[in-house]
Amino acid sequence: MSLDGTYDDGNIFAKILRGEAPSVRVFEDEHVFAFMDVFPQAKGHTLVIPKHSTARNLLEEEPERLASLILGVQRVTRAVRAALNPDGVVVTQFNGAVSGQTVYHLHFHIIPRWDGQPLGRHAGGGMADMEELKAVAAQIAAKIS
Ligand code: 5GP
Repeated sequence: MSLDGTYDDGNIFAKILRGEAPSVRVFEDEHVFAFMDVFPQAKGHTLVIPKHSTARNLLEEEPERLASLILGVQRVTRAVRAALNPDGVVVTQFNGAVSGQTVYHLHFHIIPRWDGQPLGRHAGGGMADMEELKAVAAQIAAKIS
């Protein structure tokens, strides 16, 4: 998919938001939903998505939605740090297939990094153990402030 196109409400994140597909929730408020990436590039890899949006990418998002979205990203990133004590955190976002985007509902990745631990492959690693994901999600959720 290029940067141009129309929003497909059958995408997996839309299904998660509608409760039609499972997810391991970390946090939600009126504006954003945060959940664990099932193909994590590192322990604690979390995704944050706008709840009321049909933007496929950052370029398409309504400017008035961006403040609540990035505030949600910061809030969850702080909780990831507090819960897992990483040495660094990647916060990233892809626009268009050639950039690495694979799901076309706007989202931010929060990926903790530790010294000496290589980053896993993007959207290409193995599926996480659900019980482990739930345990990490609970650790992060406990640090949301
Ligand atoms: P993108 O490649 O679009 O930037 O990121 C999409 C992310 O969604 C990838 O990191 C991928 O691992 C993740 N992902 C793909 N399918 C699912 C799913 O069904 N559930 C969850 N929680 N994450 C998914």
